Amino acid sequence: MSQTSTNQAAIKEIHLAHTQGFCAGVSSAIETVERALAKFGSPIYVRHEIVHNTAVISDFEKRGVVFIDDLTEIPEEATVIFSAHGVAPSVYQEAKERNLRYIDATCPLVTKVHREAIGFSKKDIQTILIGHKGHQELIGTSGYVNPELLYVIEDEADIDALNLDESKPIGYLTQTTLSVSETSKLIEKLRAKYPDIVAPPKEDICYATQNRQDSVLDLAEDCDVIIICGSPNSSNSNRLRETAAAKGIASYIIDTVEQFDPAVLIGKERVGVSSGASVPSYIVDEVVQKIYSLYPDAEIKRKDSIEKKFTFPIPKF
Ligand code: SF4
Repeated sequence: MSQTSTNQAAIKEIHLAHTQGFCAGVSSAIETVERALAKFGSPIYVRHEIVHNTAVISDFEKRGVVFIDDLTEIPEEATVIFSAHGVAPSVYQEAKERNLRYIDATCPLVTKVHREAIGFSKKDIQTILIGHKGHQELIGTSGYVNPELLYVIEDEADIDALNLDESKPIGYLTQTTLSVSETSKLIEKLRAKYPDIVAPPKEDICYATQNRQDSVLDLAEDCDVIIICGSPNSSNSNRLRETAAAKGIASYIIDTVEQFDPAVLIGKERVGVSSGASVPSYIVDEVVQKIYSLYPDAEIKRKDSIEKKFTFPIPKF
């Protein structure tokens, strides 16, 4: 007996988010590892997960890529790639000292925030860095700020606890993959506390994060349940699930199709599917196929993407 016939309501529509999946930074980082493997053979070392996706990591591991947390795990003169999330200046220094051949796959939009951080510190600006404590990108960006001027905040309680010298300049920067709406609220609160606070020269939340959250907001208009494909440690994927939840839509994040629980569709009629910026499209295809196999009468719908496809340059090596 099919799922359809056992429930009063059944899935009639499967909506695909119009803008989802790999961003330019992730495509470039993955291509960098591919080219390094082709040129140097295995093992290739990558400091931290090249992008936060379990399937991508496991595929590379099978092909001889070794993911490490610390450069001391690598033999002298080995080849190491730095992940899309960026690294602190001390990591480049350490790589040089250990005679490692390093290839930098930092996303250019993360590098832009690094440059802003350097600029703030040169001007002695007390720098409030908004982001998720412990996230690789935040750790890397923190390294570009004079430690005496650095204040990392994550939530409103952290803002309440700030006690900065208001006779000196104060500015803020953000991680690239935050929730657009939550970050706006934090910035509003910062402005209320420090009216002269300096904003980054250009928005730090990246185009891909913004577009994917806008796309989920659009999906929320059409759906009564939303499935987000993304790994548990993927910041931008988690923000997509939260974006849907903030609209009152039942929403779930799954790493692979095996984690998809069809029970979440019971009593629903319109399901939306999206994915984070580090998720290969085949995972979304598998989830859609799974739903379609349970509800073969459902109509699959997708609007045109709002994002023009473009690429970032691959580092030369
Ligand atoms: S999510 Fe944004 S900052 Fe991160 S890799 Fe993609 S484009 Fe770059």
